[in-house]
Amino acid sequence: MVGQIKLLLTGIIGYVLISCQSDDKRPNILFIMSDDHAVNAIGCYGKRLSNVAHTPNIDQLSSQGMLFKNCFATNSICSPSRATILTGKYSHKNGVYCLNQNFPDQPTSASILQSAGYQTAIFGKWHLKSTPTGFDEYKVLREQGRYQNPEFVEKNKSEMTEYEGWSEDIISDMTIDFLKNREKDKPFFVMAQYKGAHDPWASRPPFDTLYQNMEIPEPDNLCDQYIHRTEASKRTTLKLDMLDWKTFHHEKLDTEDTCLQRKHVYQQYIKAYLRSAAVMDANVGKLLKLLKQEGLDKNTIVIYTSDQGHFLGEHGFFSKRFMYDESMQMPLIIRYPGYINPGSENEELIANVDVAPTIVDLAGVNIPEDMQGQSIKGFLLGNPPENWREAIYYRYWQHLLHRDVAAHYGIRTKDYKLIYYYGLSLGQTEYSPTPPEWELFDLKKDPNEMVNVYKDQTYKQTVSDLKQILDSLKIHYDDEDSQYPQLKALIDI
Ligand code: CA
Repeated sequence: MVGQIKLLLTGIIGYVLISCQSDDKRPNILFIMSDDHAVNAIGCYGKRLSNVAHTPNIDQLSSQGMLFKNCFATNSICSPSRATILTGKYSHKNGVYCLNQNFPDQPTSASILQSAGYQTAIFGKWHLKSTPTGFDEYKVLREQGRYQNPEFVEKNKSEMTEYEGWSEDIISDMTIDFLKNREKDKPFFVMAQYKGAHDPWASRPPFDTLYQNMEIPEPDNLCDQYIHRTEASKRTTLKLDMLDWKTFHHEKLDTEDTCLQRKHVYQQYIKAYLRSAAVMDANVGKLLKLLKQEGLDKNTIVIYTSDQGHFLGEHGFFSKRFMYDESMQMPLIIRYPGYINPGSENEELIANVDVAPTIVDLAGVNIPEDMQGQSIKGFLLGNPPENWREAIYYRYWQHLLHRDVAAHYGIRTKDYKLIYYYGLSLGQTEYSPTPPEWELFDLKKDPNEMVNVYKDQTYKQTVSDLKQILDSLKIHYDDEDSQYPQLKALIDI
């Protein structure tokens, strides 16, 4: 009898142990990324248009998690930033320097988590020239994708499929369908990547009628004439008065006054942009609601970000590319109930190169040594890492392609930004070199980056100190100009 009870107990204990072992408690990760969503247009960031932006769901996520106030792209253009976010590596290491370059097959956060036993999927905008790898399931927009009735490239299907409806809604439906039918004995890593708020800034009811009878506040520097700056700002065609607005179904004013033209275009542009972002935000809400319905909200880390920022009329610009803050800064909000203090904020210098190592670290997997970013898990869990970076290294490679923005590199610290327009394309001899020039901005005194103080003698020592940091970071990230012979002669000018 005693022997039988012992056997029974052993059996029960054994069953319990096996059950515990097979019940995978690693956190799920839902990664939500929008396109071109600037912090100036997000309510919880408390910035320029926060009072008019319609982002209640992203704001709610922030109130339940941690908001990063100083997160930046290291190359502010779509495909390169997406490649960096996936790989944890700078453009010169992951191979995507510019738009329309092939994304070589390499380890990513998704492939690493898949190997570690996560069920992985991506739905929405991929925008890399490659077939997604590392995903158990994918349905991705073809190239930029359409807002209305978009086409998707799907795993194990040779033909593209056109879906009826609005891109953001379809991407949410795909994500929700995946989550409802997930493999329940595995944790999941899902990337839901929306098209909004990328151009052509389209929206659907009821958000397409927001802001009809109101004027949206203008930035102070909408009519910037670039008087205290380099030729790079003067040369670019990123200006709102140069926007081919007909493409977006509106007319310009019949005027030679660039300031009046900018004001006229700005109102149409910003309303279209904010409406497009509002549709995207509503879809973020659908995903958060589903997590709760499925009982997944407690053990799912939710990350919200965008591939870079966007000019919303600041400096008279639209789009991105430049190292100026409106373009370089990314939103980053992370919720992890029970681990991250609700409503907390972080002011450290974080970069898109940190996203992949953070995801890998949160999943409990060792971070590959060749990832160049650092995990921010310690900030999330109240155990901040020591000796965090004091400067972010940035490099925009796409010299004078699209909108005439000169290639540049530089660093951003909390107080200063040093930019070097190095003046020559790499391997693009059909484009003329531009004069090498430097910009320095004192961000405490001049947060809008209006006055270049590089030649101001007051900043002589600052320039020297910052150049040392720049040089050391170029070595640290193995992006030395000696690797590019065309540049070498120009570096010390
Ligand atoms: Ca983008």
